Amino acid sequence: MEWSRSTSTCITAAVLLLLPRLCSPAGDKLTRGESLLPGETIVSNGGAFVLGFFAPSDAAPGRQYLGIWYNNITVTASTVVWVANRDAPVIIGEGSGGNSSAAPSLALANDTSSLVLADASGRVVWTANITAAMSSGSATGSTAAVLQNDGNLVILSPNAAKPLWQSFDHPTDTFIPGMKVGLRRRTRDDGVDGWRIVSWKGPGDPSPGSFSYGMDPNTSLQLLLWNGTRIYWRGTPWTGYPTVSRYHPATGTVIYVAVVDGEEEIYTTFSVNEGAPPTRYVVTGAGKFQLLSWNRNASAWTTLESLPGRGCSPYGSCGAYGYCHHTQTAATCRCLDGFEPASRAEWSRGVFSRGCRRSQALAPCGGGGEGDAFLAMPSMKVPDKFVLLGNMTSGDECAAACRRDCACEAYAYASLRSSSAKGDIARCLVWTGELVDTQMIGAFWGVTAETLNLRVPAGFTGKKRGTKTLKILLPVLASVLIVTCSVLVWFCKCRSKGKRRSSESEKKLVPGSVRASSELGEGNPSEDLEFPSIQFSDIVAATDNFSRECMIGRGGFGKVYKGTFLGGRVVAVKRLSKDSEQGIEEFKNEAILISKLQHRNLVRLLGCCTEGAERLLIYEYLANKGLDAILFDSERKSLLDWPTRFGIIKGVARGLLYLHQDSRLTVIHRDLKASNVLLDAEMRPKIADFGMAKIFGENQQKANTKRVVGTFGYIAPEYQTEGVFSVKSDVYSFGILVLEIVSGVRISSTDDIMGSPGLVAYAWKLWKEGNASDLVDASIVESCALDELLLCIHVGLLCVQDDPNGRPLMSSVVSILENGSVSLPAPDQPAYFAERNSKLQGKGGDVETSKNSMTMTVLQGR
Ligand code: ATP
Repeated sequence: MEWSRSTSTCITAAVLLLLPRLCSPAGDKLTRGESLLPGETIVSNGGAFVLGFFAPSDAAPGRQYLGIWYNNITVTASTVVWVANRDAPVIIGEGSGGNSSAAPSLALANDTSSLVLADASGRVVWTANITAAMSSGSATGSTAAVLQNDGNLVILSPNAAKPLWQSFDHPTDTFIPGMKVGLRRRTRDDGVDGWRIVSWKGPGDPSPGSFSYGMDPNTSLQLLLWNGTRIYWRGTPWTGYPTVSRYHPATGTVIYVAVVDGEEEIYTTFSVNEGAPPTRYVVTGAGKFQLLSWNRNASAWTTLESLPGRGCSPYGSCGAYGYCHHTQTAATCRCLDGFEPASRAEWSRGVFSRGCRRSQALAPCGGGGEGDAFLAMPSMKVPDKFVLLGNMTSGDECAAACRRDCACEAYAYASLRSSSAKGDIARCLVWTGELVDTQMIGAFWGVTAETLNLRVPAGFTGKKRGTKTLKILLPVLASVLIVTCSVLVWFCKCRSKGKRRSSESEKKLVPGSVRASSELGEGNPSEDLEFPSIQFSDIVAATDNFSRECMIGRGGFGKVYKGTFLGGRVVAVKRLSKDSEQGIEEFKNEAILISKLQHRNLVRLLGCCTEGAERLLIYEYLANKGLDAILFDSERKSLLDWPTRFGIIKGVARGLLYLHQDSRLTVIHRDLKASNVLLDAEMRPKIADFGMAKIFGENQQKANTKRVVGTFGYIAPEYQTEGVFSVKSDVYSFGILVLEIVSGVRISSTDDIMGSPGLVAYAWKLWKEGNASDLVDASIVESCALDELLLCIHVGLLCVQDDPNGRPLMSSVVSILENGSVSLPAPDQPAYFAERNSKLQGKGGDVETSKNSMTMTVLQGR
C-alpha cells in the first residue's frame, strides 16, 4: 500500500531549468511564473499557517525542507505540520555550479500544473504529482497553489471542481483538524489509497520513521499504531458512533472525533471548538500517538493524550487469553474468566507473554455447541483478529452464530442503528482464533468499551452444575432462605405494630399542622417551629421498640431506625444516643435549622420528639439511604451509572446553593460528605445532617471558631488550620465529594492511588498530565459522557483549591454544571493535600472516628 510520500521525479526538471528567475509569490498563493525561495514564505489567508523552507534545529548543517508550520509559534520540529521533501532535503550553498544566486525553489510546472521542488542545481527533489488525467484541461494560466487557513496546501484550477492535489492527502507525522486517517475502497487516480500518519525518524530528521498510525486495512473497524509492520498499539474497535467529543480542561479544548463510513472511503477526522488553541495529533519518533494543544499562557505544547498509555496497554502485552486490567490504581495483566496462566511461575514474575489457557475444557464440539455457555465480560476493549459477520440483527443471532461454530471463542454485538452510512443495523464480531490484545478499560474512551461474551463450559456459569456443586450449594441456599423468611416475618411484625399503634402520629405527620414551641428543652427558640411533635410511644410502636431489625444506620448522633406509621407512611427516626459525640446542641440546631428550609435536594424533617431524656428527629425515609453505602461498595457501585452520578452531583450542588443563598438564610452546612447525601428510590440526592450547620447574618461572609467540626478529608484547609469557615469551606467539601463520585474512591482511602498520596493528589496529577479521564470509576466507563465527566473533574479541582477566593461560588458551580463551559480557569495545584494527614494526626485526642463509617469526625474542645 502506498501512503503519503510523493516520489521524486525528473519529468519536469527540464521545464524548470529553462525558466529564468521567477517572481516571488505574494499572499497565500503561488501562481505560474512565481517561485518560492529559501527565506520566503506564503502565509494562509487568516494567518494561521505558513509555507516555506525550514531547517529542523537538530538537522545536519545546510539541510532544508519545504514545509507548513503554525504561524506565530516559533518554528521547531513540533510546530511543523507537514513536510514535502521529508526524505530528500535540499542543501543550501551546494550544487549551484558556480552560480552564487542559484538556490532551491518551489514552482508550478507549466505543463502539468504539478508543484515542483528543485535544488540549487535544478534537480527535482520532490513533486506534488498531478497525473495527466487529472490535469487535462485544467492546467490553465490561473492554476495556483494556495495555502488554506486550515493548513492544507491545495493546487486549484478554475476548470476543476476539486483541488488537483492537496497536502492533506499526503500527511506526514501530524494529523490536524480537517485531515483524514483511513482507507479508500479503491485507489484514486493520484495513487492515494488511504491516509496514514508516519513519524519522523528523529527531531532533526523528518524522513519517515518506523512508527505509523492508520486504519486497520483488514477490518476498517479499528485504528492501529505500527512499529514498522508490527502492530504496536490498537484502538478500540468502532462500535458505530458517528462522533464523540472529549473535553480537555487543561487548555479548554473540545475535540470532536468523527468516523465517516462512505461509499468510497472510510476514515476518521476531527475538529475542535471555536477559539480553541492550535491542536494536533502527532506520531512521535519514540512511538507515541499524542494529542498536543498549544498552551498560550505557557507558550508551550501541552500533551492532552498520549498512547500507548501506562502498564500493559501496548499491543498483546498480556499474551493470548490474557487481558490488561485498568483501574484507577493499577494496570495489570489478568486471565480472561475461565482461563488461568499458562505458566504460573512466569506470571508471578510479571512475564505475561505466554498468556493464559482454559482452566476447564469446553464440552466436545458438536450438537450445536449446546454444552457451552457464554459469559459476559463488560467494559472491555474487545480482542483483535475478529471476523465481522453480516446480516445479524440481534445479540441472540450473533451468539447463535458463534455457538454453531466449534472454533468460535467469543462474540461481541453492537447495535449501529442509524449511525452507519450504509444502513447496517448491527455489528456482530466473532473470534475463531486466540484472543489477543484484550483490555478491561477502567477509564477512557467511554463509549467504545463493550461487552465481550466468552465461550465457557456451561458449568462455569452455573447452568449445568454437577452433583458435587449442588451438595455445597443446597445447604447454603437453604440457610439464605431461612434468614430471608425470618427477616420478612420481623419486617411484617414491625410494620403491623407500627400500623396499630401509630394512627395518632400519622395524622400529625403533616408539616405545619402542629406547633412545637416549647419542647426542645432549655434554650428553645422563641419562634414556633413548623413541624409536629410526635409522642415517644408512637415512635416506639413504629420502630417495634427500636428493634434491631428496624435499625438502618448509625452516625455520630446515634442510631437511625426505619419506622412505619399507620397508613403505611415510612419514616427514618434518628435517636440521640446518650453517649453521642453530638449533644443536645446539635439536636436543637438540626431541628430548628432544617424546619426553616425546604428544597427538593434537602432531606425533609417531619417531626421531633423530646420526652424525658429522649431526643428524636423524624425524617422522610429515603429508600437508598446514604450515597457512601453504594458509591464505595464494589458490588453495588455499578447501580450508579454516569447519568445517575451526574444527576447526584447537580442535585447536591442545587441543594447547597439553596443553603448558601437561595433560602431566606445563609446556611453553612460544615459536614457535607458522601454519607450525608441520601438517595431516594430514584437515586435523587438530598443533603442531610444539619447538626453542625451554622446560620450567617445578612452581611456575614465568614466566621471563626476554635471548634472545628467536620469529617476527615472534607475539611477546607483554612477551616482546618485557622478555624475560618464560610460558604467556601462547603464548596471545598463539595469538590471532594465530586472527585469521590467521579472516581468511586473514598477521600479517606489510605491506599496509595497509583503512587499518589491521596485522591486529590491523584486527580490533580492526572489533570495536569492531560489524563483526567483516567480518574473515572471503572464501573461507569460504559455509561460515561466524557465531556460531562471532565467538566465535573475540572469543577471538582477548582473547588478544592487552597485559596478560598479561587474557589467558585455554588451559583457558578450550578450554572457550569447545568450549561457546560469551555472557558473555565485552570485550577491551582492543591497544596493542602500533602500536609493534611500530618496536621490531623497532630491533633491527637481531638480526632475521633465515627462509629458507622470509615471517616473520622474532628471535634476540637472550646
Ligand atoms: P455522622 O453522624 O458521623 O455524620 P452519618 O451521616 O452516616 O454519620 P447519620 O446522619 O446519623 O450519620 O445517618 C446514619 C445512616 O442512617 C446514614 O448513613 C443512612 O444510611 C441512614 N439514614 C439516615 N437518615 C436517613 C433517612 N432519612 N432515610 C434513610 N436512611 C437514613
